[in-house]
Amino acid sequence: MKHQYSNLSRLIYQSDIRSMSIECDKVNGINLSQGICDLPINQRVALAAKKAIDSGCNHYSQFDGLPELKKAISLKLRSYNHINASEENIIVSAGATGALYIASLALLNPGDEVILFEPYYGYHLNNFQAVGAVPVYVKLYPPDWHFKIKELEKVITSKTKAIMINTPANPCGKVFSLDELNQIAVLTNKYNLIVFTDEIYEYFVYGEKKHISPGSIKSFNNKVVTISGYSKTYSITGWRIGYLVCQKDWVQMIGYMNDMIYVCAPTPLQMGVAGGINKLPDKYYSRLCQLFSKKRNIICEYLQKAGLTPNIPQGSYYVLANASIVPGKTDKEKALYLLHKTKVAAVPGSAFYHSDKNTNLLRFCFAKDDSVLHAAGKRLLKLTK
Ligand code: PLP
Repeated sequence: MKHQYSNLSRLIYQSDIRSMSIECDKVNGINLSQGICDLPINQRVALAAKKAIDSGCNHYSQFDGLPELKKAISLKLRSYNHINASEENIIVSAGATGALYIASLALLNPGDEVILFEPYYGYHLNNFQAVGAVPVYVKLYPPDWHFKIKELEKVITSKTKAIMINTPANPCGKVFSLDELNQIAVLTNKYNLIVFTDEIYEYFVYGEKKHISPGSIKSFNNKVVTISGYSKTYSITGWRIGYLVCQKDWVQMIGYMNDMIYVCAPTPLQMGVAGGINKLPDKYYSRLCQLFSKKRNIICEYLQKAGLTPNIPQGSYYVLANASIVPGKTDKEKALYLLHKTKVAAVPGSAFYHSDKNTNLLRFCFAKDDSVLHAAGKRLLKLTK
């Protein structure tokens, strides 16, 4: 019988990340492909959620988020992101993923073009395609993943509606500088574009680099939808708590979309995150950053020794490594060769490019216990034998 899938479903296929995880399970390998952080949850966050459940906080909450959480987020936005937002500018959603989807539903029409920096995070692409928007790509050039402003301006047409920024970025770890953001702001003003910015890795920034939220930059003229969440910061990817902040003119319709799609984010878990934001000291975030900076160094040293030269990431918890020495005609073949030779799973670089099947890149996730990173690193050294 002919299937009855929608036109949209033709654009959605099993991601390479998922298929590498399945292959990895088959050989009982170490999975550095999926961006799952297996580190333990902070106890204050866990206790605040348990307390909420025990005290009967288990029902639908306001579609835009619990006041306690929105208040906590607004204070955090002021102090950490330098975004002057009040609770009315915030919608709590089902993770950063949910937040981007509801904002796209409210602000984009089918046929609108949205600019993505490439390599991109696959969910961003799927999200825009899911609302009928048309992705347009601008290259980031290694090793520092800079873009060329002329190339950015060149892809803007009368149909361009928005640009997606991801800082720090998955998969390349780029942290956009103030100068780069100012250059983008000149174009978004000139062409009246919306800026979506995904800052889920905002606390994972290494070395001299600093996280800068586009939403804090005046020259963007309030046309920024800032998206973030606590999946990564509190190691609660399964809780599905994220949020967005934007101008008041947009927030109401985006909130209605949240109501329609998700009804609300999980109520007691919103309380858990509010507890974390209110009670965890600044030291928690600086320690997190130090911890991950060490993990980055561990994995990068092994990659270097294994002949998989890493592009040292400025932020996030992924590293793209050069896979020229790995046999295989495509990135996917290389990832499979690596898995079978070393029992370590990585993601083929082509998963982050729209047409290039042979980028010679593999992505490794280092959000793992140090012991797992050492075990994986030792296995990767087999490549040199
Ligand atoms: N944004 C980026 C860039 C990511 O890499 C991820 C997860 O890998 C997410 C968003 C998912 O965030 P959430 O769990 O809040 O939906």
